[in-house]
Amino acid sequence: MRGVVLHAPRDVRVEEREDPRILLPTDAIIRLSATCVCGSDLWPYRGIETVHGPSPMGHEYVGVVQEVGDEVREIKPGQFVVGSFFASDNTCPICRAGYQSSCVHREPVGGLGAQAEYLRVPLADGTLVATPDLPTDDLVPALLAASDVLGTGWFGAVAAEVGPGKTVAVVGDGAVGLLAVLAARRLGAERVIAVSRHEPRQKLATHYGATDIVTERGDDGVARIKDLTDGLGAHSVIEAVGTQESMLQAIRSTRAGGHVGYVGVAHDVELPGEELFFSHVHLHGGPAPVRRFLPELIDLIYRREIDPGRVFDLTLPLDQAAEGYRAMDERRAVKVLLNP
Ligand SMILES: [Zn+2]
Repeated sequence: MRGVVLHAPRDVRVEEREDPRILLPTDAIIRLSATCVCGSDLWPYRGIETVHGPSPMGHEYVGVVQEVGDEVREIKPGQFVVGSFFASDNTCPICRAGYQSSCVHREPVGGLGAQAEYLRVPLADGTLVATPDLPTDDLVPALLAASDVLGTGWFGAVAAEVGPGKTVAVVGDGAVGLLAVLAARRLGAERVIAVSRHEPRQKLATHYGATDIVTERGDDGVARIKDLTDGLGAHSVIEAVGTQESMLQAIRSTRAGGHVGYVGVAHDVELPGEELFFSHVHLHGGPAPVRRFLPELIDLIYRREIDPGRVFDLTLPLDQAAEGYRAMDERRAVKVLLNP
């Protein structure tokens, strides 16, 4: 089969990879209907994360089940399924508490390489959620968004305790930040402040329900958000970047007693203990337990109440994956969908 392999920073190749097969009786093999490039794929692409030899890429996927192992009971060949970036059993105490991305049996899907024609999904019954039927083509991008960026933005909003009547700020205008805006509105936020200096992204943020746009970053951004909130800061702030600057902007934009939901993968973030102590801000985040939210998100997508697929502003055949990485790296595209 064809699949994306990162050989070194900025060296993305689509090449022949071995067809995946069932290795454990809890596995399933799916034929991908669509896959995509994630903001987090840019960390190794840019050389900020070390690339240890040729690495299959991709951890966002939807597709049709081809084959299941002997112990798979719920998932069946022919079903259209949505999974997420950690395989999980969905039965251990951590999963039952809603933290499937810390499942005691979790397995990262990224190493298996979902930017490909086929994918082996471990722990299929726990990991995959089947849609009610084979979706029409127009729903596929939205379902693919649920696999990571929508689920992650949603978790960011839940972790930030977004709720009716609250003022929410979102730091980060990538696909996760934009869909955190959508999540915040769906969860009842009265006001949503999006931080973005990029006009097409500001427009999408407004489409998803942002009421205010702040273009400043860092402490200037904090000052703008304070200006918009009677000097108090937002009740809930979603951090969707993962840098020192964005994390501090998120914490400092939150009012005393408020909540930060941080879902940008942290890179060299160090928090000042004394400032945190006196801030009275709650911090909660981490790799989103997307699996917790998938049934609800699939339902909202099927009822066409949300349209998260709009974050895909460039669609390419899988063979042009290298151009997809470049477009995202240069911020010419918010998110790139790849058709296997
Ligand atoms: Zn588990």
